Amino acid sequence: MKKGKKLYEGKAKILYAAPEKGTAIQHFKDNATAFNNQKKTIIEGKGILNNRISEHILSNLNQIGIETHLIKRINMREQLIKIVEIIPVEFIVRNIATGSLTKRLGIEDGTVLDKPLIEFCYKNDELNDPLIAKEHITAFKWAEENEINWIKDQCLRINDFMQGMFKGIGIKLVDFKLEFGRLNQGEVRRIILADEISPDTCRLWDASSEKKLDKDRFRKDLGNLLEAYQEVARRLNILHEETNIKPVEFGKLRSIKNRK
Ligand code: 5GP
Repeated sequence: MKKGKKLYEGKAKILYAAPEKGTAIQHFKDNATAFNNQKKTIIEGKGILNNRISEHILSNLNQIGIETHLIKRINMREQLIKIVEIIPVEFIVRNIATGSLTKRLGIEDGTVLDKPLIEFCYKNDELNDPLIAKEHITAFKWAEENEINWIKDQCLRINDFMQGMFKGIGIKLVDFKLEFGRLNQGEVRRIILADEISPDTCRLWDASSEKKLDKDRFRKDLGNLLEAYQEVARRLNILHEETNIKPVEFGKLRSIKNRK
């Protein structure tokens, strides 16, 4: 598929115009960033794994009636998506307390929450994505009250689905971040799930050892990030011939990447 002009470049992804109106090509980069870009590096192959894992999760969500921006994966690093106007709010869903929640409130790390907790953050790098209340979202017209309630319901449905999916492969879904956007196609105006769902945007712990299988490996300098992402993909049974990524064969990723 022919790539058009670059529409947007973020820390981990680039959006290019696609031939069909209202669609774009989302390209997954190998850049790993943390603490609002203060810590960064390149992890070769990360983009390939996130593209594949996110495609898997979003297409499963599409199948259970949760509309997402994903149309299809095009190649190892890219997927065709519907263009949406992103709502500038990060919806954080938590099942186990860790990360910024424990730091902010002094809650013991690893505390299992009785029911999922949904938090809102204003999506703004310069301000460090600050925690906000529902009232900020309506006050600044980022979304209306009924839209927020609908998105919260979607967050819970997505959490239920993903918790089950990961439980089945021996992984605890600790928390994750979702982004939603507005689809404006003439008469058709609705909110759909956007961005990505991958080990970059979730916390995933091995169910028995609690080993971290997500971006915390980079944030906390634990090493072996690629192997952890491969492990997630392997357990999801999506490390197949097409992507040709084999567990713990990091060296091979280089040649696969160059072949594209
Ligand atoms: P925390 O608020 O504890 O740092 O993050 C909660 C969850 O949301 C984690 O799974 C984390 O990966 C995800 N998350 C929050 N903000 C961001 C962000 O700006 N980028 C990414 N990739 N994930 C985020």
